[in-house]
Amino acid sequence: MSEIEIFNVMVLATMFILGAIFGSFACCQAWRWRYMVHKKKDLGQWSVCLHCGKKLHWYDNIPIISWLMLRGKCRYCHKKIGIADFLSEISMAVAFFMLSWAYLLPMLHGWDILMRNPAQLALQLGSFILTLLMLVVLVILAVYDAKWGELPLVLLLLAVNMGAVILVLKLISTSLAGDEAISELLNALFGVLILAGTCFLIYRISHERLMGGGDWILALALALALADWWLALWTIFLANLLGDLIALPGAMKQGNHVVHFGPFLVAAFVIVLVLGNALPSLLKGII
Ligand SMILES: [Zn+2]
Repeated sequence: MSEIEIFNVMVLATMFILGAIFGSFACCQAWRWRYMVHKKKDLGQWSVCLHCGKKLHWYDNIPIISWLMLRGKCRYCHKKIGIADFLSEISMAVAFFMLSWAYLLPMLHGWDILMRNPAQLALQLGSFILTLLMLVVLVILAVYDAKWGELPLVLLLLAVNMGAVILVLKLISTSLAGDEAISELLNALFGVLILAGTCFLIYRISHERLMGGGDWILALALALALADWWLALWTIFLANLLGDLIALPGAMKQGNHVVHFGPFLVAAFVIVLVLGNALPSLLKGII
């Protein structure tokens, strides 16, 4: 392995672990939020088993690994720990890994060139970090939606704000590079119309059966951060595809056709963000 390859592996491994930690954090926050809002109870500072209330040791609290070692059960009472914990840890780890591969590595490799333009560097780095932080909020929302079929409005509005700030950073970066910021703004707004508009229409037409009232606000946050109508179109397409493949068969079997769309929107968003930067010709060339 060359030095550059070792460097790449180290960066990506670090981001994978960081993602797993943030995924664990996000899932905990979803539970905390639920307890705060519905039971008016603070879960306290430490991680506890929700069944027996025992405080967990650090070694039972390692993202991904502990869940696998304990096979998804509490060490003390042997009751099941939800699959949501594991899924949010692993998917966040993969998301951090892929986003770093698509955005962070190119930035680090072009560091010398970027350093000649510190403002541009700060904007790119800022928008990358903000995207990761937004992802934490999005995963809290996705876990909440998957578990309880609701999207807390405060978190939705936080995500919309973060998406708007990411868009502003991109617009500043465009105008600093001497390109037309106005056409990029129109591009972003068209994306909002496609992604949030479609979700809003489905929500109204299906009378909340296919899509809840929170989904279009979530879609708005995603479209702002994507800032591109092609990527917005791909996101709605992929989210529907994932939802149909994964959730719809189960929902049909149970007789209620309610599909919680939030997690699929978030998953599609990450895939599109990664492919949009790594393989732009794939998403924009073929359709
Ligand atoms: Zn327990």
